[in-house]
Amino acid sequence: MTNRKPIKSVFFLRCPSCGIGSLFKSKHSYELNKILDMHEHCEHCHEDFEVETGFYQGAMYMSYIITCALCLAILPIYYLFNNTREAFLDNAMYYLIACFAILIFTAPYVSQLSRAVWLKMHVKFFKSKTEENHH
Ligand SMILES: [Zn+2]
Repeated sequence: MTNRKPIKSVFFLRCPSCGIGSLFKSKHSYELNKILDMHEHCEHCHEDFEVETGFYQGAMYMSYIITCALCLAILPIYYLFNNTREAFLDNAMYYLIACFAILIFTAPYVSQLSRAVWLKMHVKFFKSKTEENHH
C-alpha cells in the first residue's frame, strides 16, 4: 500500500500508510470531548494505530515543537508592523498575547497533528525497517 501524498495525509490526520483512513473518530478537531479518540486500526489498510501502550506520550514533544514553530512563524508578521526597535520592544506584550491566542485556538488540532506526525515517524523510520528484515 503506497501513500502518494505523505505530507498532506499527515496534515489531514490520515493513516500514515495509505493516506485514506482517518486516524481520529471525531469529524473535526473541535469536537472537544473526543479529540483524542483514535481508531485502533486503519479502516482502509488495517495499519495498527495503537502500536504499543503509552506510544502517544512521545507526541507531547511534537506538540511542543509545533507550537514553537507557530509562534516563530508569526514573528516576521509582528516585525512587519513593528519594524523599529522601540515599537518592537514596546509591543512585545501583544506578540506574546498573539502567541497565547494561537496556542489556545490551535491546541485541539495541534494535539491531533502531533499524534499524526508521531505515528508517521514511527511508520516511516521503524516499521519499514522491521518489514525489510523479514524479507
Ligand atoms: Zn491505512
